[in-house]
Amino acid sequence: MKSGKGKDMGDKIVKSDAQWKAILTPEQYRVMREHGTEKPFGKGGLWENHEEGVYECAACGVELFGSGAKFESGTGWPSFFKPAYPENVATREDNSFLMRRTEVYCPRCGAHLGHVFDDGPRPTGLRYCINGVALKFVPDKSYKK
Ligand code: FE
Repeated sequence: MKSGKGKDMGDKIVKSDAQWKAILTPEQYRVMREHGTEKPFGKGGLWENHEEGVYECAACGVELFGSGAKFESGTGWPSFFKPAYPENVATREDNSFLMRRTEVYCPRCGAHLGHVFDDGPRPTGLRYCINGVALKFVPDKSYKK
C-alpha cells in the first residue's frame, strides 16, 4: 500500500454509495458523490482560512492544494491557482446546467471537488474553485506548495 502523501497518491479507492455515506457527512456526500455545490461564504469555512498548510481530499487524503497557491477570489469558495502536484488533481468536461465548465475531481477516490476556470491570477491564470467541505486542511508551517 502506498502512502497517499506527496505525488505518491497510492491505489485508487473504490467504495459503494452506502460505504461513502457511512464515512462522509451528508453535505460532503451531496457535494463529493452527487456533484453538489456548497453555499459560498459559509461561516468558518476554509474559504477564509489563511493558515499555512496542505489541503487534502476530505474523502481519501490525497494532497490536493497548498496554502502557497491559495488566493482571495471573492467567490466565497476556497480558490487556488495550481494543484500541489498536477497528477493529484484530475479534470474533465462538465456540460451540465447548459454551461461548458471543467470539473475538478480526485483521481484517487473519484470525488467531485469543484471546477477550474481560466480567470485566475498569475502565474497560471487558473482558478481552481473548490468546495470547502471536499477539503481537509492540515496545518503545516513548513509546507512549501
Ligand atoms: Fe479523494
